[in-house]
Amino acid sequence: MEVSSSTIERRPTRQIHVGSVAVGGDAPISIQSMTITKTSDVEGTLQQIYALAAAGADIVRCTCNEAEAAEGLAQIVPRSPVPIVADIHHQYKMALAAIEAGVHGLRLNPGNIRKPEHIKAVAAEAKDREIPIRIGVNAGSLDPRLYEKYGEATPEAMVESAQQEIAYFDEVGFDLIKISVKASSVPLMVEAYRQLSEVTDHPLHLGVTEAGPPPAGLVKATAGIATLLMEGIGDTIRYSLTADPVEEAIAGRQLLEALGLRERKNVDLIACPSCGRAEVDVIEVARQAMEAFGTRKLPLQVAVMGCVVNGPGEARDADLGIAAGNKRGHLFVKGQNVAVVPEDEMVEQLVEWAEYITEHGIDAALERVDLEKARREAERDRARLLAEQGDDANHAGEKIVEIRRTVT
Ligand code: SF4
Repeated sequence: MEVSSSTIERRPTRQIHVGSVAVGGDAPISIQSMTITKTSDVEGTLQQIYALAAAGADIVRCTCNEAEAAEGLAQIVPRSPVPIVADIHHQYKMALAAIEAGVHGLRLNPGNIRKPEHIKAVAAEAKDREIPIRIGVNAGSLDPRLYEKYGEATPEAMVESAQQEIAYFDEVGFDLIKISVKASSVPLMVEAYRQLSEVTDHPLHLGVTEAGPPPAGLVKATAGIATLLMEGIGDTIRYSLTADPVEEAIAGRQLLEALGLRERKNVDLIACPSCGRAEVDVIEVARQAMEAFGTRKLPLQVAVMGCVVNGPGEARDADLGIAAGNKRGHLFVKGQNVAVVPEDEMVEQLVEWAEYITEHGIDAALERVDLEKARREAERDRARLLAEQGDDANHAGEKIVEIRRTVT
C-alpha cells in the first residue's frame, strides 16, 4: 500500500479567509511567518515580506506596537504579495488602528488585552470589516487569574483562556476566529492543542513559541507541529525560530511537503549518509547541490549518493540522482543509468537534467540517451571500482591486523 497524505485525516474545522488565503476546512495548510523589521520601516518590511513570500509564506504577520507601525501598515498592505496580519499586544487601540490601516487579520493575546470592553470593541470593529482575529494564547503570558487558578500554565489553563476570549467575541456575534495555544514546551503545546481541538471547530494555528535558534529550534518546532499534523490537528503553521524569518518559511514549506500535506514545489534532496565506500565527499556534494537548486521550482526528488556500487539501487525511487564513481559521476533517472560525467560537472549536470525532467517529463529524459550504451559505460566503471575495492571498502582486514597489533 502506498502511504501518502491521504492517510492523514484532518479534523473538520470551519473555514475563514485571511485576505485571499483560506484557512481551515478543506483549505491547504498555510504557512506563516513574521517580519523582524520595524513596521514603520515600510521599504525594509516590504523587502522582507517579498523574501518570505518567495520562500513559501502564505501569510505574513507584522507587529503593530505604535502609531508609526499602524501608519506603516497602511502603506505596506496594498503593496504586499500576501495577506498581512497585525500582531497586537497590550494596546487594544493598536488593533483598531491596524484595522483602519487595512490589514487582513489581527492577532490578539488574551493574556495582555484583558478588559472585556476593549476586547469586544475590537471584535465589533473586526466584525463590521469582516477581518478575522487569531486568539493567540501563549503559555508564558496567560491572564494572572489563570495562573492563580491552575498554579502554572497547564493545557487546561490555555484552553480556558481561549474559551474566555471566544465568549467575549460571541457577545458581539463575531466568529471569524482562529486559535493558537503555543508554549515553548513541546509536550505542553501538543496537549493544549489536543484538548482545544476537542472543544472547538475553529481553525487552529500551530506553533512552538520561542523555539530558539536552529538546529534545536527546528527540532522542537517540528516535533510539536508534526505530531499534531499527523493527528489531523492544525490548519495553519508557523515556525518561531531565532533566525532569519526566511528560514521559518522554508522550514514550514519543507515540513508540509515532507508530510504530503502540500504539493512539492522545490527539489526534495535525499543523500546517503556516506560510508567507507564513498568516492566523493558526499556532504560537500549534497551542500553544493542544495545551493545550486536553491529555490528553483523543480518539484523532483533528487538523490546524491556516495558510490556507484550501492547508490543507484538504494535511490532507485528518486526521479533523478548521481552516484560517485571512479572520478566520475553516474547519473541515473528512476534507477536507470543515463550518463557518466566528470566528477567536477556532477552538480551542474544534475541541475541540467532536473530542469529537463521538469519541463519534459521522465519518459522524455529516458528517451534522450542511448540507455544501453549508458548502462554499459556505468557497468564498466562499477566493475573497475569493485575490482579495486572488493567487498572491503573500509580496508577492514588491514585495520583488524593493526588493532590486534596495538592491543597485544
Ligand atoms: S551509497 Fe555507497 S557511499 Fe553511500 S552509504 Fe551507501 S554504500 Fe556508502
